[in-house]
Amino acid sequence: MIVLREPNEMRRWSFERRREGKTIGFVPTMGALHEGHASLMREAGRKNDVAVASIFVNPTQFGPNEDFNKYPRMFDADCAMARECGVVAVYAPTAGMMYPPGYATTVSVARLTEGLCGRSRPGHFSGVTTVVAKLFNAVMPHRAYFGQKDAQQCAVIRRMARDLDTGVEIVEMPIVREPDGLAMSSRNAYLSADERAKALALSRALFHAQSLLENGRRDAREIVRAVRERLDGIEADYVELVDAENLEPVNEVSGCVVLAVAARVGATRLIDNIKYCAPAASAGPHTEESAK
Ligand code: AMP
Repeated sequence: MIVLREPNEMRRWSFERRREGKTIGFVPTMGALHEGHASLMREAGRKNDVAVASIFVNPTQFGPNEDFNKYPRMFDADCAMARECGVVAVYAPTAGMMYPPGYATTVSVARLTEGLCGRSRPGHFSGVTTVVAKLFNAVMPHRAYFGQKDAQQCAVIRRMARDLDTGVEIVEMPIVREPDGLAMSSRNAYLSADERAKALALSRALFHAQSLLENGRRDAREIVRAVRERLDGIEADYVELVDAENLEPVNEVSGCVVLAVAARVGATRLIDNIKYCAPAASAGPHTEESAK
């Protein structure tokens, strides 16, 4: 496995692979890799001739009071995990290389970035879309893999990739969870044992809502209330039921929706969600029987 540090170096490597007729699957990450990242890297390797992962803690997507400085960094262990997952090249530029003096360009996606996390993290998504656009230009992938864990990010990146004619196919992968339901996240490392136990309320509440949806409940207010009631005193930033494509809040569930929650547990901000697609023309409760 090769480690590349400079955009030009990365691009040259990718040009070579493309010249050989190889497809490139790409997984952008901020490191502190866990099984969630691993599932993306393995899929990138399975579905493409070569898999590339980037490891870059992008300063521009952190707000001034966020955790950029204390974000976990463990480059050697990350490289070992990437290699194990079949990654053949790690792209790990420095912040100075990504944003040299005089840097002046941003990429931002309108509307989709205004709600949910965009409301409490101003500037976050333009940081994300800018860095992903730059990473795409350096890595020149055929496909890029993102986790549904960051559902709003997936929708925003998909739109950016389409709007900017990147030609990159965006692949969304399911959330990988700990055996007890907690969505894996690099930020889970911040949680004390007590906080981690408390944080389980998020996935528990979402799973409860999932069962309501599967039993045919369609009223968004009722579903959101059910989640809020099960957060066991955790302070929610938001609990929202939104359309999976445009992220607009819905009143009645139809088509595909995302039920998303963001909450602070101690000092740590966690996000989680479930995606649900209502069966077309459902006339009543959706049960295993009716699905057959
Ligand atoms: P990050 O390093 O947090 O920027 O995440 C890099 C990629 O991994 C993003 O596309 C995330 O959505 C994805 N990811 C993070 N956690 C998970 C998880 N638990 N399951 C699946 N994908 C994840």
